[in-house]
Amino acid sequence: MSTVTVLGLGTMGTTIARLFLERGRQVTVWNRSADKAAPLAALGAQVAASAADAIRASDLAVMIVYDYAAAQAVLAAPGVSAALQGKTLVQLTTGSPAEARAALAWATARGAAYLDGAIQAAPSQMGQPDTPVLLSGDPQTYARVADTLRDLAGNITYLGSQIDAAASMDLATLSYVYGATAGFIHGALIAESQGLDVAQLGNIVSGISPSFGAFFQHESKVIQSGDFTVSESPLRISVEATRRILDSSKAAGINTEMPAFVDNWLQRADAAGLGNQELAALIKVIRPRA
Ligand code: NAP
Repeated sequence: MSTVTVLGLGTMGTTIARLFLERGRQVTVWNRSADKAAPLAALGAQVAASAADAIRASDLAVMIVYDYAAAQAVLAAPGVSAALQGKTLVQLTTGSPAEARAALAWATARGAAYLDGAIQAAPSQMGQPDTPVLLSGDPQTYARVADTLRDLAGNITYLGSQIDAAASMDLATLSYVYGATAGFIHGALIAESQGLDVAQLGNIVSGISPSFGAFFQHESKVIQSGDFTVSESPLRISVEATRRILDSSKAAGINTEMPAFVDNWLQRADAAGLGNQELAALIKVIRPRA
């Protein structure tokens, strides 16, 4: 699509509008605080006086505001509902699965095609061949806008027609990120308490991260297949490793909340007889019981 509208010119929205301009699109922008549009106008963007005017200017509107409450405030503005008839709205504002479902229902009732997405990169990382963005929603709508959206991110993962898939997969990814963050922070505490160079821990973690990514790819296939026969790492090794982290942390007199949490899961897995299965069998401890 040669014309595109960007609603929301915060740090991410400004980057998105600039990338569309750099790729030669005819870009219309709108922001609640009008002053943020001036630098983009200098780069060739049309500045709309209202959100409704901005939506009317292009077939595709990309919305990127602070949260869904902000998005609702924009969409409730005078004339927006009518302007959306026959248009495509791509919501890249971070939100929950429930918010994505509600937004689809709202947009559909106004005759707009709707896709929901999650940006998994910082503004400075946008527009690269490997920039990760998750998208979900109607496949025909996705096919129509995919080329345009690739201006923003070369690595779009389209998750199919289930509208809340992008938001759910974003939560799943963030669960991994914050679990790893908790482990890293505890690791920094271990290094610090032993008088070691914490920056060197960062280098070591960075060095092993690609191979751990490949390991988790393998474990995800194990979970998907349901075959937990040991293929890479028996769960028992992790029972012993986490007990070692916990015991050594106690001995060092440092905080033990993080290893105690993981140790609890692994001890329960061991007690359930999962020690001789692949590590991914840990999911059996926390799955809802039938
Ligand atoms: P930001 O710089 O704080 O910008 C927030 C934007 O939301 C501004 O355009 C602001 O308008 C608008 N806004 C807030 N409340 C509003 C309301 N009630 N009505 C209308 N507009 C409202 O945020 P950002 O970093 O661009 O992030 C935008 C989205 O991208 C968020 O959902 C965030 O989770 C997601 N994201 C950001 C990053 C990142 O690193 N920045 C990374 C991944 C995803 P005003 O200018 O008028 O205040």
